Amino acid sequence: MAYPLQTQMKTSKWLKKMNLWKEDLYHLIYPASCLCCDKELSIGMQNICDICDANLRFTYFEKFNDPSSLDKLFWGRCNLTSTCAFLQFEKDSSTQKILHAIKYKGKKDLAEEMGGRFGERLKQNQSKYGSIEVLIPVPLHPKKKFIRGYNQSECIAKGIANSTEMIVNTGFLTKGVHTESQTKKANRFLRWDNVSDVFHLDVNKLKDVKHIALVDDVVTTGSTLESCIQKIHQVLPEIKITVLSLAIAK
Ligand SMILES: [Zn+2]
Repeated sequence: MAYPLQTQMKTSKWLKKMNLWKEDLYHLIYPASCLCCDKELSIGMQNICDICDANLRFTYFEKFNDPSSLDKLFWGRCNLTSTCAFLQFEKDSSTQKILHAIKYKGKKDLAEEMGGRFGERLKQNQSKYGSIEVLIPVPLHPKKKFIRGYNQSECIAKGIANSTEMIVNTGFLTKGVHTESQTKKANRFLRWDNVSDVFHLDVNKLKDVKHIALVDDVVTTGSTLESCIQKIHQVLPEIKITVLSLAIAK
């Protein structure tokens, strides 16, 4: 039996109220704190407080006419169509804490949220980023992904896709051999040597696509991306490749 519309509306209003009370009560018992400064967050806020958010240092690379430090990092190493990074990485900064939470504290929602904000920025420069069709997250080794439970670059890519017309593809580029943690490697040559030839391509997963973007969480030396780009261009020399990184440590 269907209830009259008025009764249905009353019930849904009442349910909404109940949910709000439940949220308030939960917050009272388990107050969430800011990931960056540990201060208690007010109701409705997630992950970062307003002050820490206001302290984030953005690169504004999307507005650059001249080459950015991220463009220059790949000069002479591989052929890129464009690049962009959202945040400037600094030691002990909010950005470092955000990246840490995204990578090691299971903060997938934060990765998606940041990706979404990054996507909004990319939309401001259609001539540079408007033709990107597919987002390719830099893959993790399956063993590493199993231990962590997710690939943070994939979550960032999902966020970018949510606020743009781009779509995410995780089947085209995958990782094979397990490599030693790259942070332990001292110089770029060793790092490159360490990651070379461990990526696998499935070109069938990417038919008729002209412009892709590789998505990463943070760029330091760029060696992993360089390895991916070279591998892709060996197989698909005509394809346009853009690098999108949530942060740059340069
Ligand atoms: Zn804070």
